[in-house]
Amino acid sequence: MVFFVQTHYLWHVKHYINVILPIPLEKSFTYAITNAEAEFLKPGMRVSVPFGKSKIYTALVIEIHTIAPLVYEAKDIHQILDDTPIMTPIQLEHWSWISKYYMCTLGEVMRAALPNAFILESETVISRKSDVEINDQDLEDDEFIVFEALHHQSSLKIQDLMAILDKKNVLPVIKRLLEKKVISVKEEIYEKYKPKLVRYVKLNSSYSSENELQQLLDDLSRAPKQRDVLMTLFSISAKTKAPVKVSELSAVSNASASVVKALIDKNILEEYHIQTDRIQYLGDVKEASKHLNKHQTCALDEITKSFEKQNITLFHGVTSSGKTEVYVKLIEEQLKRKQQVLYLLPEIALTTQLVERLQNYFGEQVVVYHSKYSSNERVEVWNNVLQNSPQAQVILGARSAVLLPFHKLGLVIVDEEHESSFKQFDPAPRYHARDTAIVLASMFKCKTVLGSATPSLESYYNAMQGKYGLVELNQRYNNVLMPEIELVDVKDKHKRKQMQGHFSDRLIEEMNETLKNGGQVILFQNRRGFSPIVECNSCGHSPQCPNCDVSLTFHQYRNQLRCHYCGYNVVLPKTCEACGSVEVDAKGLGTEQVEQEVKGLFPQYHVVRMDLDTTRGKHGYEKIITALEQGEIDILVGTQMLTKGLDFRNVKLVGVMNADNLLNFPDFRAHERSYQLMAQVSGRAGRTDERGKVLIQTYNPYHRILQQVSTNDYKQMYKEQLDDRHVYKYPPLFRMVRLTFKHKDYQKVNVGAEWYAKSLRMVFGQHVLGPEFPPVARIRNQYLKHILIKIPPGQSLVKTKEAIRKINTSFLSVKAYRSIRVVINVDN
Ligand code: ADP
Ligand code: ZN
Ligand code: ZN
Repeated sequence: MVFFVQTHYLWHVKHYINVILPIPLEKSFTYAITNAEAEFLKPGMRVSVPFGKSKIYTALVIEIHTIAPLVYEAKDIHQILDDTPIMTPIQLEHWSWISKYYMCTLGEVMRAALPNAFILESETVISRKSDVEINDQDLEDDEFIVFEALHHQSSLKIQDLMAILDKKNVLPVIKRLLEKKVISVKEEIYEKYKPKLVRYVKLNSSYSSENELQQLLDDLSRAPKQRDVLMTLFSISAKTKAPVKVSELSAVSNASASVVKALIDKNILEEYHIQTDRIQYLGDVKEASKHLNKHQTCALDEITKSFEKQNITLFHGVTSSGKTEVYVKLIEEQLKRKQQVLYLLPEIALTTQLVERLQNYFGEQVVVYHSKYSSNERVEVWNNVLQNSPQAQVILGARSAVLLPFHKLGLVIVDEEHESSFKQFDPAPRYHARDTAIVLASMFKCKTVLGSATPSLESYYNAMQGKYGLVELNQRYNNVLMPEIELVDVKDKHKRKQMQGHFSDRLIEEMNETLKNGGQVILFQNRRGFSPIVECNSCGHSPQCPNCDVSLTFHQYRNQLRCHYCGYNVVLPKTCEACGSVEVDAKGLGTEQVEQEVKGLFPQYHVVRMDLDTTRGKHGYEKIITALEQGEIDILVGTQMLTKGLDFRNVKLVGVMNADNLLNFPDFRAHERSYQLMAQVSGRAGRTDERGKVLIQTYNPYHRILQQVSTNDYKQMYKEQLDDRHVYKYPPLFRMVRLTFKHKDYQKVNVGAEWYAKSLRMVFGQHVLGPEFPPVARIRNQYLKHILIKIPPGQSLVKTKEAIRKINTSFLSVKAYRSIRVVINVDN
């Protein structure tokens, strides 16, 4: 993308802009602008533009030029929405890289990057025709109500109509009124971002003189409450010498809102509003950063040294070695140089714990970009980052924070870089935030640190190849020993009748011991999706989702069967729907069942479950974490959610209920992921002076991965896994692009995918795998089929993607295939 700096204009030529629209269009779109507009507009500003028959979109200007489009007549823009650009040139360059690399459109990147509130959308507005002559008798009741309402208000929105008519479906009324030519309908754009206004009060200026004030206070002697409020106002403003908020005033004076309102109504107080940021840091004193121990100091030195030669450094530090404290030093240095720092974390590791820790050091300079924030809050963060304001020097966020409008980026930190949630799956752009951050850093010519206790094979491989620097930190802080890991052979325990439900005698023993000594226990059960299912003991039938090709999952708490793909749910049937038998039982193990069993085994202790179901609310997750920190929970049962970055002093024992369903997951990364997950959960045990203990229950204690986890042997794991990847031609040695075909019609998916695969084979030969049905081959009534393209080392990525794109275009030009959805996922 080119940025035009336009210094002068030729007044007789016509001007155009190229814009990105927030929809999946391959090319940018061109609109006509006036000369005056051309002088005002800059790349990165928003305009509203007409599109199609009646749509209005928010578009982003990327180029201003004088070349008329060849194949269509450029329409005029509607209006200019910004005074200054809302994004930066580097950002546009970065978006363009994302769209090329991940094979999606710029519009899709724009959708993902811009807070919703920036993308204004058109809304239907109904108004009354001015010249209309109609008899009341010609209108039905509901039509008449709308017609009447339009007397009082010149235009109405759909929302208003719903309120007036007190029903949801108002379209039929609109349609009838249109037919009777009473109203006209038009699309209008509305601004979504609403700055937060805070109410302030001050004394009305007519009381500014001594005399008038005295008079006022005398008058108010018969209204003592109001007088009180007034006196409080004086004392607050004397103390703070700053504007006084209404909320503050009523809090300090202990008066109800109505008292303040009475003063405002009497014109004694004057009300006014100030726009404020929604996200404010409320803490005060900053803490000095920690003094690093000698291992950490050494790591910090090595990172700094490695930066002299490398742009990217992998920081491999065992759990609880104090990686965060090392980051803090690196951040301090950037702040001294007045540079911004991007600190990326997986969503679930973005905890209040960490935010508070960083805010203790850097105060209000830390800003958080979070998916749980409202759209308006996101706009504020966006603007602060764009303006390089003092409140946006350290930007802490998950995946999408990489898309913010950085101004002076000095350092990128990607913590827990191995986490798979850095990769976005749906919708496009299907980008990997770690890799995208590395590219961003290179555009700013700044450095990147990738941190992890269990690096991804990709990053470790890059380090081994000399592409990245590598710094290791093998000591836990305070020389706490790595936890002792014991593998429990569940098959053997079953044979010896030493199991109670899903608990081995060893696990129960250790739990008793820990709990007796006042320690806390974490029990880890793999994510809720794979179990438990319900099975009939007579015929083996297990209830299926009618929309997806998958067994329904049993949720005891609601006594329901639910589909985790589409949300379908039914009450648990009392008898088998296939054979009528009453012996239907839950098989497999979910967090709920573990919770039940624990409560039975340890009735005197407080057990809490943490998974997607129990953490749904805005602060659901935090509440559980705080309760654990404060010792209100003895045993926490949870999914992967509890593997991340949590630092609990008092957790002495971690139990992995069932390692096998992790290891057996059908994915080429399953073993790597199992290692990472188990090493990370284990890392939650014994983070202080005492050595922690981990028990892993498994049917297969001799599995290589379990051996490597129990001896904390990352390098051995890496070596073996890399060999496998070599043999089976997987990343990091080969790259991959996965295509997914989706359609309601089974036959169509088959034929279409087959055609596509054949075309791909003509170019890539044996490196095309499939088409194949995935393990869950039907989701929400759509059949799915995958094709995998492996890209051998040395084969040009750019050319490969070009070839795929060409085939894709031919595919979509076949009429019969046009309705098939093709999803392209690069580096999946
Ligand atoms: P990691 O991110 O590597 O898992 P953390 O940075 O969370 O490790 O450190 C683990 C614990 O040790 C934290 O509670 C942290 O405050 C403490 N810690 C680490 N380094 C120091 C230090 N140099 N001085 C004081 N406390 C430290
Ligand atoms: Zn049955
Ligand atoms: Zn379903």
